Amino acid sequence: MKITDIRATTVTVPLEAPLRHAAGAHWGRFVRTIVEVETDEGLVGLGEMGGGGESAEATFRAMKTYLVGHNPANLEEMRFKIANPTASLYNNRTQILAALEFACLDILGQKWNVPVYEILGGRLQSEVPFASYLFFRYPDAKTGAGEVRTIEQLVGHARELKQRYGFTSHKLKGGVFAPEYELECFRALAGELGIDRTRGDSFRFDPNASWSTEQAIWFGQAIEDIRNDYLEDPVFGLHGMRRTREKVRMPLATNTVVVNFEQLAANVLDTAVDVILLDTTFWGGIRPCVKAAGICETFQLGVAVHSSGELGIQLATMLHLGAVIPNLTFAADAHYHHLRDDVIEGGKFEYRGGRIRVPDAPGLGVKLDRDKLAEYAELYKSLGGYNYDKDPLRPDWTPIVPNTRWADPDDARTPSM
Ligand SMILES: [Mg+2]
Repeated sequence: MKITDIRATTVTVPLEAPLRHAAGAHWGRFVRTIVEVETDEGLVGLGEMGGGGESAEATFRAMKTYLVGHNPANLEEMRFKIANPTASLYNNRTQILAALEFACLDILGQKWNVPVYEILGGRLQSEVPFASYLFFRYPDAKTGAGEVRTIEQLVGHARELKQRYGFTSHKLKGGVFAPEYELECFRALAGELGIDRTRGDSFRFDPNASWSTEQAIWFGQAIEDIRNDYLEDPVFGLHGMRRTREKVRMPLATNTVVVNFEQLAANVLDTAVDVILLDTTFWGGIRPCVKAAGICETFQLGVAVHSSGELGIQLATMLHLGAVIPNLTFAADAHYHHLRDDVIEGGKFEYRGGRIRVPDAPGLGVKLDRDKLAEYAELYKSLGGYNYDKDPLRPDWTPIVPNTRWADPDDARTPSM
């Protein structure tokens, strides 16, 4: 079997409301590049890539000169063809490789008539549990709805998500407002849904590495009585994480400073992080994540599944990953419930009891809805990209690390998108 064509289509899919984070915001929508890899046997595999509000179409088209004629079963060779570790110093294509790996696995599953999880070692669970992913949100520019800024709004939003989707673990994305205010928010959330350390829901906080080490220690010590899954990326860098870990009594997690095998090895040799959040895109595919999970199993580090903002194709990769790794003891993260729609046949995946079923159809188990793809490709053409790392209401602010200039929780303006 040979690859004959690689197509890419940029789409933008609306969110319920703009999501705020430590470096800026998702401006009311996700921009994703949908990849289709076609073979001489007529099979088409699907991939997906993010890119911080920007299109990656041109890069995927450029990969045709490397990969037309390549056998999609030769996944390791593909890695060296387009993401050789020294050639990557000029062109880092880890996320491009990931999207193409998804598509090749999808092709192989269809050819062999098995779901991707069977190619990866077989499924250990048929559903993957997810955490509620709570963001501070600007109001939707059209409706004025969806704002999460005050403590009351946050707690109400969490209660609503729990009721609607059944989440029992809650992640709050912080790093937007001053840590003192976010501490109040996080404690109110835990107070509402389970401050008891032995019963009730569990919690995780992620300020996207925007604090100083001293700030991280102060915050960590102030939440030690909460039933924390972990404290995620309180500070940037393995050394800041290690210093924080010496003084804070809870596991630390990262999706930032352990995102490849070199960093994982460094973390094994001199541990700074307890839980590695595996992202099928950041690590270059589902298979590297399975490999990394094996290393974590050997050294008894925790693993969870990270979300970099997905539509249904990438969500499917997260589900297949979650299905096959034996040491997934935490709920996975997904931005998915903030989306209004998807580009896959049958509409959005459904949550039941905080879980999503792993698809059983051959390959990734998702197909493109051509009408939706066309609709959201048109929407991208009319709206264009957005600056993921910019706050729409603070044009003069730069997301310095560590940050000291926070957004104002009393600022109730609605940005126009
Ligand atoms: Mg994170």
